[in-house]
Amino acid sequence: MLAYPPEGHETDSKEIFILGSARLSCLINHSAIQLEKNGNFCKLIRLKLGENKIRINIDGKSFTRRIYGVLNINNNPNPIAYAHPYQAFNTLNSEYKNHKTIRTSTQGAINEPASSGNILRSILISNKDISIPLNSLPDYKLKKINAYHYRLDLGIMEQDLDWIHYSELNPEIKIEQISNIIFDIKFQKPVINHKIKFKNQVLNISFTFSEMPLLVCIDPGHGGSQIGATSPKGIFEKDLNLSLAIKLATELNHQGVKTILTRNHDTEKSLSERVRISKKNKCNLFISLHHNALPDGRDPNKESGFSCHYFHEHSFDLAKFISLKLKASSKQDFAGIYKQNLHVLRENPDTISVLIELGYLIHPLESDLLCKKSFQTKTARILAKALLEFHKS
Ligand SMILES: [Zn+2]
Repeated sequence: MLAYPPEGHETDSKEIFILGSARLSCLINHSAIQLEKNGNFCKLIRLKLGENKIRINIDGKSFTRRIYGVLNINNNPNPIAYAHPYQAFNTLNSEYKNHKTIRTSTQGAINEPASSGNILRSILISNKDISIPLNSLPDYKLKKINAYHYRLDLGIMEQDLDWIHYSELNPEIKIEQISNIIFDIKFQKPVINHKIKFKNQVLNISFTFSEMPLLVCIDPGHGGSQIGATSPKGIFEKDLNLSLAIKLATELNHQGVKTILTRNHDTEKSLSERVRISKKNKCNLFISLHHNALPDGRDPNKESGFSCHYFHEHSFDLAKFISLKLKASSKQDFAGIYKQNLHVLRENPDTISVLIELGYLIHPLESDLLCKKSFQTKTARILAKALLEFHKS
């Protein structure tokens, strides 16, 4: 069968890959194509502008595919799904748009006027609070960026910081100085609440962390008419994603971990709906499952392996942890960890969110491995174990 490209496909790429499988033979424009042992083939051919008639013969059956070479498609319909590595990464200015100012000293119970002579000299950090000795209460701002990340602007003029003191060996709160008096506060666990007081010339911010049991949101990519990538033998990514997601949920449930699936049958779900499901159920881990492809102009013979994607910094550790676990127990190539501006990761900042591309569904050899039930079962076990170990650590 021929998996790609579809009839009438338009592309501004100078080359295109012809992907499919045959039992005995395949000819493209009358030249015999070498089949892999599994019968799959993938051949890159050059395109000219305008109509390209490609003559294909699979197992003695001839047909033509018309591909149109065009100049610059602005809105590439992206006929075959891919995540890595050509999606433009935009630094999100909008990232900080939605952050709420939780409280400032001029609001609420604390309402003392700021006075001059405030010098920042030291910061003390324990696993539940931050204490800053100051002469008087400054006009500070504390912003929640997400459940793992706050930003503190001390709003004072003078800074002569001698030391930052951590009283714990494995600090759950960490501070990064981003300017003289502005600090990023990062947390190991999600913060659900915080309290501020100013007493005995010490500004104290204490945090309450979520101790909710592990609840994993599993997101099988695509679904319905959004088929995702297609293997040389015609297997759709959406189906592989779903069967792996169900196996992963079953594994986790066996271990006593509750799971939520963003879809549990072949249905279409928007990206925002997927995030909404995760948020509504207050899931503390989010894992999106995909199988990769490439855009026109790339050679699927040359790209293989799994990759892990994250967006918010607090999700990097999980992306790394899963990568290490997959790498240790798989013969697949490791295609890397990517910080990537993907909707389901970006819009889910209050949870630890990763997207895994388990491999290239359009790679002539790797695709057969990815479609094996035994491979999926093994992968589901590795992922379940990795999620549990990560949560415990
Ligand atoms: Zn996908």
